[in-house]
Amino acid sequence: MTTSFTAPKGTFDLLPPRSATFLAVREAIAAPLRLAGYGYAETPVFEDTALFERGVGESTDVVSKEMYTFLDKGGRSITLRPEGTASVLRAALEAGLQKGPLPVKLWYAGSFFRYERPQAGRYRHFSQVGAEALGLDDPALDAELIWLAAQGYQRLGLRGVRLLLNSLGDATCRPVYRERLQHFLRGLDLDDETRRRVEINPLRVLDDKRPQVRDQLAGAPLVADALCEPCREHYDEVRAMLADGGVSWEEAPRLVRGLDYYTRTTFEFVHDGLGAQAAVGGGGRYDGLSESIGGPPLPGVGWAVGVDRTVLALEAEGVELVPPGRVRVFAVPLGEAARRELVRLVARLREAGVAADLAYGQRGMKGAMKAADRSGAAHAIVAGDRDLAAGVAQVKDLRTGEQRSVPLDRLVEELS
Ligand code: AMP
Repeated sequence: MTTSFTAPKGTFDLLPPRSATFLAVREAIAAPLRLAGYGYAETPVFEDTALFERGVGESTDVVSKEMYTFLDKGGRSITLRPEGTASVLRAALEAGLQKGPLPVKLWYAGSFFRYERPQAGRYRHFSQVGAEALGLDDPALDAELIWLAAQGYQRLGLRGVRLLLNSLGDATCRPVYRERLQHFLRGLDLDDETRRRVEINPLRVLDDKRPQVRDQLAGAPLVADALCEPCREHYDEVRAMLADGGVSWEEAPRLVRGLDYYTRTTFEFVHDGLGAQAAVGGGGRYDGLSESIGGPPLPGVGWAVGVDRTVLALEAEGVELVPPGRVRVFAVPLGEAARRELVRLVARLREAGVAADLAYGQRGMKGAMKAADRSGAAHAIVAGDRDLAAGVAQVKDLRTGEQRSVPLDRLVEELS
């Protein structure tokens, strides 16, 4: 009999053995960041709704359609975080970190929430690892972050991740480009909703995947051709440093991302084994974000890697990361006295760093040996009253079936 409850629509549970892969992905993405001086940040999973409205942008799908927003019992409008950058920046500013040494380098990991139409790789509750470098507009930071994400994927053994790169310009050249693009888009045959989008968020239209829209976009002006001199120089430097670092990329002149705050360098990591939801990570520079949320001028750059989709990419490539949480030793006590002795022994094995488990419950020898086999352990320790009286236990190699007597006081050493 199962319960009548299921995980809410668009969510799923993480359970062994697959959950081990999720942990390993988080760890592999975070490890290069730690080596590069990024410190761990944790912020609440909910924030003031206005933080995301101002930060992510009211014209985005994320804010206009996908936020989990509610009034709390104190009448405040609260939103479950749909992304991490606005929160991390809010936290850094609140703590005054921008007054200390720059850049401020932070990384985070956790749950994010978007009310999206669920499909493979797109969930309402998902998990990201992200990184932000705040306070400088140095192109070396853009390159460092991209390199670190690439390292993370490499560390996982993923081979099919491609980097798409673009620059979206800044407050000087982007408005000029935006108007040119709008002028072009207004001349196309588009449905009402897309027309509305042309007026509020024209860059996003470039991202439209529908063939009837795509076909008409062939001659659209590209932001790459409209960059002002400082933006062009910045982008050239990022690319030169990526090349020096051995990172390869594809120019993606139509790449815009779903969040409004991006300026200059913008990128996405995609994997071809994932179908429609191909992006396994993405990010970029957001030099105006601090001011949009009421902070001082403070440039920044960052990314977020989707843990769920990175796991799907590993599965698509057939990469197996971790043998599912197995123990090395499984103890099988025969009788009550042996049970007390083996409980102590298992504790000592664990203290010595050996993964060990014990046959719990009152089962017979046969059931207990079956549990030992199922555990995946390499060795079973079997002991009955007669063994204990002789000061030994039987150590059985579960692959070969070979068995030998080992003195109790030598067991931990033998099995470590
Ligand atoms: P974004 O915060 O939109 O820049 O997304 C960064 C990464 O998070 C994407 O590349 C995806 O891998 C992942 N992601 C974003 N939204 C979802 C979602 N609804 N379900 C699963 N993964 C997501």
